[in-house]
Amino acid sequence: MAENVNVKRLYSDLRGKIAAVHNEDELKIIDKAFGVAEEYHGGQLRRSGEPYIIHPIAVADILVDLGMDWQSLVAALLHDVVEDTPYTLEQLRADFGDEVATLVDGVTKLGKVQITSRETKEEQQAENVRKMLLAMSKDIRVIIVKLADRLHNMRTLEFVDPQKQRDKALETLEIFAPISHRLGIRSVKEELEDRAIRFLDPVAYASIEENVKNSSRSGNDFLENTKEKILERVRLTVPNAQISGRIKSVHGIYRKMYMQGKQFDEIYDIYAVRIIVDTVVDCYNCLGIIHDMYKPLPGRFKDYISTPKPNMYQSLHTTVIGKEGTPFEVQIRTWEMHRTAEYGIAAHWKYKLGINGGKKSFDEGLQWIREMLEAQQETGDAREIVSSIKTDLIPDEVFVYTPKGDVINIPQGSTVIDFAYAIHTEVGNKMTGAKVDGRMVPLDYVVKTGEIVEILTTSQPGKGPSRDWLNIAKSSQAKSKIRSWFKREKRDENIAEGKAEVEREFKRNYIRLDEEDYQTFLKKLCERQHMESLDDFYAAIGFGGLSINRLMPYIKEEYHKNYDKSREEIKITPVETVSRKKKDGVTVEGIDNCLIKFSRCCNPLPGDPIIGFITRGHGVSVHKADCTNVPKDIKNCAEPARWVKAHWNKDVKEEYKATITMTCLSRIGLMADVSMQVANMKVNITDINTRDTKDGRCILSITVKVGGIEHLKNLIAKIEKVDGVLSVER
Ligand code: MN
Repeated sequence: MAENVNVKRLYSDLRGKIAAVHNEDELKIIDKAFGVAEEYHGGQLRRSGEPYIIHPIAVADILVDLGMDWQSLVAALLHDVVEDTPYTLEQLRADFGDEVATLVDGVTKLGKVQITSRETKEEQQAENVRKMLLAMSKDIRVIIVKLADRLHNMRTLEFVDPQKQRDKALETLEIFAPISHRLGIRSVKEELEDRAIRFLDPVAYASIEENVKNSSRSGNDFLENTKEKILERVRLTVPNAQISGRIKSVHGIYRKMYMQGKQFDEIYDIYAVRIIVDTVVDCYNCLGIIHDMYKPLPGRFKDYISTPKPNMYQSLHTTVIGKEGTPFEVQIRTWEMHRTAEYGIAAHWKYKLGINGGKKSFDEGLQWIREMLEAQQETGDAREIVSSIKTDLIPDEVFVYTPKGDVINIPQGSTVIDFAYAIHTEVGNKMTGAKVDGRMVPLDYVVKTGEIVEILTTSQPGKGPSRDWLNIAKSSQAKSKIRSWFKREKRDENIAEGKAEVEREFKRNYIRLDEEDYQTFLKKLCERQHMESLDDFYAAIGFGGLSINRLMPYIKEEYHKNYDKSREEIKITPVETVSRKKKDGVTVEGIDNCLIKFSRCCNPLPGDPIIGFITRGHGVSVHKADCTNVPKDIKNCAEPARWVKAHWNKDVKEEYKATITMTCLSRIGLMADVSMQVANMKVNITDINTRDTKDGRCILSITVKVGGIEHLKNLIAKIEKVDGVLSVER
């Protein structure tokens, strides 16, 4: 049996690696775990057609490379048995002990959320992520095993169907890559991103790959020469310095090109040289030497040694101009910083510190998980977590100075309010205004790298943030601090306000319950929002952390189902999903922050049913659902996965272009009459075309800017009434 030989060899390779770092006793338990996994997964196949056991072996293999402990390896081998085979958690606990059982249980629970029909996909995902963070906060190894699991699934993603590929790739990019970044596990983060983008945007990926390949031959020569020259100089002062070079990864370039809208040749760190030295002093010495050898690009020096990144990353970064004007980045760090940069939190196991060695840095490294969970606790909305993972975990940063010269790095797009809260919660709460480079600025001022920002505060007691700061601040961190203030300072007020609001909204929506039912009803609502008490629930509504309006569809549905006997027909109102406002006024399901353009073939207008098409490298193009370029039967068309659901945001106000074509009898004054109707509707004409037809008629086409489909329909109705206009078409 060829398959069996394959498995045995895979496992013996893995075993060899494990034996190099783990002792005899540990190896025995790992063998036992493999035995159980092999027996219980026996006969199961992966989508690739390979025996299932390949998967747990591969997951364990990833974890050995990260240097994880034997408990994690055992959990990796067994991570799918409880879920997919008759082997129970109790058996596992009896055979392998509590610690391993807890790990496996944690990994199993992720992705196993009870789904009720009314919950949206977004809510399910949010709930999953919340559970994941909870499990992580108890034992961080749960997520490390989960990341390895996801990584192997991404490596074998080609075997699943295209829609699932896209879903998994998107989730990987939005949730798992940011988490691995936040944990500092570089190799995992990079591979996850790389593989995700390959599935999400294969064409752009291929074209970048091509670009890199074309420049890599000369690039390699350039790097080799540069390394040699630098090492020669540096070793005169720092004899132990080591140097390496790299060409930026495809996904790294993709990120810059598509997220920051840069051109390939605007990316200055395609080439990078890394110098590793023994001490911090050596780092700064090397920096001096580099700046002496090459001309540094202004604004590109970053001192992550004095200001480490939130994931503990430390290094000096600078970009300099090399031979023939080629810019390249130089990263300088110590060996210890290098370990943290490569393995992040996993370095605790890799370098045998465990959880207890370096306890303080370990705990600090996990503080963000608690903060996210707390922020979510306040609003009771799990989607809060997902959005802060998306925005806060991989921020592009700006560097801003305090008047004393301290550097604060905060996410790009941050306002002075975010800056104030980044310095200290109290500075934020007591803020009255801000000066940038000595000049007063409004509170929504967005700070830029290099600016000196001074926060003006008051010592007046009782002064606090204002509620509209919630709309101005960008980072979830600042927002949650502002909410906390209201929550803490004004609890009684919040409860009273929240209670009144709930009563008012119930009345307004004709929800009538007697006192007893009312209490049970609210209790259920609290539980659903993960609130501990009714007061907490009222308070959350009072301070604006929770929106009763957003809950209303669910409330109405529950009410009509359980209490309102008078209605025969139960009308199910779908739960409102929160859509991020797009300036285009369109939300594409499952895709955030993508470039949206309207197709020229059909010019969709707000109100038109629409559908999105994922273009090759240029975002999503939006068509009318009945456009001739949209396949009639999407399920069976050539590339079904590229068609995605899209809908108009409720509050679109922008103007849209539409072209109306009229067939008319030629007469004097016709144009004037049409223009008058258009002007009366307060519509602007951007283009007019006329041509005469052979039979004495004329075709008049005008392009107008309208506010939506209704607006356009009204306009057409008006034009149709103009004397001489025979027909109007869009
Ligand atoms: Mn798995």
